[in-house]
Amino acid sequence: MAYDHKDIEKKAQEKWAHLDLYTTDLSDTSREQYYLLTEFPYPSGDLHIGHWYAFAVTDIYARLLRARGKNVFFPIGFDAFGLPAENAAIKNGLNPKDWTYKNMARMREQLATMGASFDWSKEVVTCDPSYYQWTQWLFTKLFEQGLAERKLAPVKWCPKDQTVLANEQVIDGRCERCGTPVEEKRLTQWFLKITDYAERLLAGLDALPWREEIKEAQRAWIGKSKGAKLRFDLKSDSQGRTFESVEVFTTRPDTVFGATYVVLAPEHPLLSNDWLTMSIMNAKEVSEYVNETKKKTERERSENKEKTGVKLEGVTAINPATKEEIPIYVADYVLSSYGTGAVMAVPAHDERDLDFAKKFSVPIRKTKFAQWDEIAAMGGERATQYRLRDWLVSRQRYWGCPIPIVYDPEGKPHTVPAEHLPWLLPTDVDFTPTGKAPLASSKELKERVEKIFGKDWTPEYDTLDTFVDSSWYFLRYLDSKNTNSFSDAALMKKWLPINRYSGGSEHTTMHVLYARFLMKALYDLALVSVEEPFTERFNRGLIMGPDGQKMSKSKGNVVNPDEFVQKYGADAVRMYLAFIGPYNESGSYPWNLEGVAAMRKFLDRIVRLVDRASLAVEPPSEISETIQQAFARTALKVSEDGDRFKFNTAIAALMILINEIEASPFIPKTALTQLVIILAPFAPHLAEHLWEKLGGNGTSTSLGVNSVHQAAWPVFSVTVASETEVVVQVAGHKRGSIRLSREASEAEALAEALKLPAVITALASKKPVRVVYVPGRILNLVV
Ligand SMILES: [Zn+2]
Repeated sequence: MAYDHKDIEKKAQEKWAHLDLYTTDLSDTSREQYYLLTEFPYPSGDLHIGHWYAFAVTDIYARLLRARGKNVFFPIGFDAFGLPAENAAIKNGLNPKDWTYKNMARMREQLATMGASFDWSKEVVTCDPSYYQWTQWLFTKLFEQGLAERKLAPVKWCPKDQTVLANEQVIDGRCERCGTPVEEKRLTQWFLKITDYAERLLAGLDALPWREEIKEAQRAWIGKSKGAKLRFDLKSDSQGRTFESVEVFTTRPDTVFGATYVVLAPEHPLLSNDWLTMSIMNAKEVSEYVNETKKKTERERSENKEKTGVKLEGVTAINPATKEEIPIYVADYVLSSYGTGAVMAVPAHDERDLDFAKKFSVPIRKTKFAQWDEIAAMGGERATQYRLRDWLVSRQRYWGCPIPIVYDPEGKPHTVPAEHLPWLLPTDVDFTPTGKAPLASSKELKERVEKIFGKDWTPEYDTLDTFVDSSWYFLRYLDSKNTNSFSDAALMKKWLPINRYSGGSEHTTMHVLYARFLMKALYDLALVSVEEPFTERFNRGLIMGPDGQKMSKSKGNVVNPDEFVQKYGADAVRMYLAFIGPYNESGSYPWNLEGVAAMRKFLDRIVRLVDRASLAVEPPSEISETIQQAFARTALKVSEDGDRFKFNTAIAALMILINEIEASPFIPKTALTQLVIILAPFAPHLAEHLWEKLGGNGTSTSLGVNSVHQAAWPVFSVTVASETEVVVQVAGHKRGSIRLSREASEAEALAEALKLPAVITALASKKPVRVVYVPGRILNLVV
């Protein structure tokens, strides 16, 4: 191998630390700013390949932007509360805090070996009281605003972890963390009212220049359906009179003439109504059925192929359109969480209703469609339903942010006043999972509450879901040491929204949606000045084992990055990861065992090129036209592909350039210096070494430039065609693309877009109310 990577990396990292290269001056107004955010890690202890993929590859972009003159903010921290610390504590008899802080110290060291250009001076650690004080303060603001509320609700419960889970943490009926089938329980819990923001979360997506698949995933999660609420009167055989009625939600009110039965969800409140239970002749059978369904999860119920149910004998409903008496069933294919928990069944127009009707021999009737005035005359009201549920944030676990609530002797909740924040996590607790919150075992917490609030006042014992901690950390980065506020208003105004947020696709419908919700809530409280936190969102892919399977210890296909870093160097590892596939798509890429070695060989070739130039007796000073063209093309391609997070094709362009340089007889040092500057974002350590070897100057060195990472991106006198593809969206949906010069103005882009037939059709002669244009990437017309 042509160079000693261990020596080079150590020296480069020491040099960067000495020069303090990556501390961002947030108040600098002389340069254009760029806030590049990557999801902060959980302090699990050891850096795995996923961390390298998340941080080292995003770091390429941070360096590329700096080289191009931007004031880049690229912070890092730890999402440090959460179950693994507590589980490790139980297993090994440790303190969760010690475990977490030890792991963070180890990970900081490991991250340094990666050579990532993070601004550590603004580090955020969510389990630190100086951070969670503000998580608690924000919670009290939400409570005052009526956005945090305590209610009895059916919740998902993991019997192994002994805690409730958010709906989003249940995958295929199992706990996301441990895979145990979840149970449903009715418990009084804290919720954040994200449903109040359903419409705005949906509408806000339209103007965001995100990939369509990410927006679609959020739209599907919010699950808006338009329809109507209709009232069906109930009649009892024994009394012959109507007392009660049931309200149904339907997306097809026009099919009401074909409604031949009504179905209640097993949890429907009418089933515990005295009038109804006295009127039902088969009450025992009904209650047995209701108890039976409690064992099933919502997912099993909605997927269940074989429909089950029980007819309520002795009561009927009256179809408001036909005035006909129709049967009522209780059936678990209707969910209490959807609509009103009761549906009118129209077997002629709905497949699930049809399956049920066939099994229970209910009439199937095809009829005329009702007009809206007919529906309204029946008392029908237009209504909209959402699939989105309120965000359940209580956790019966120890290692989390204490909910800043205390209860008066009557049991009424009150927020802990700001002067008592941070509301410290007690240390005298028993973590053993018993199904009860561990904080309930703390004597200190009880005494603290009585001392501050008075006798018979009691603490809240649950802690917050860690997704609450991570829904605002990017605001704290801007002012992480502030003891008077959660962040500085002026800095937030200057630096928000975040330019680009890079993360895992698994966070599309939880973390990213929660962060958007919280931002909107804070905007309404006049605490932030923008409603959307992230201008761009990129979901990266997954690195698979060499066999193409997900890496796991049990499959024996785990690739340890440390081994490769030791053997080939950090630069070869990160370049290989950048080359493995497009970083702007959430694909999955198998690790090729020879891949890093091949990347190292490529870097060795560059080292030999530089050596060859240093040995030349009389190096030419002029760069040939052909080579100048090749350089200009590469610099532009690397820059553009970098903007799109397509580092794989950017590296391919570098490889082509190296072939061209190798084929030409003499290369002056000035050209090689330019090459090293273009290489620097990808191979930061090696580039530093080569830059020094070449004399540390060449193109645009000015005073104060001590590192290749302070050198400006090379500018070439030759011009190359710089047309680029711009995606055109109408109301957030892709309708085509146009080719434009990178410098094209918004007006020029709009003029081109309005020529596309698909755009004309989608606009349907309406004028866009807003145009969102990201040059070189996307044009979105908001209607
Ligand atoms: Zn679990």
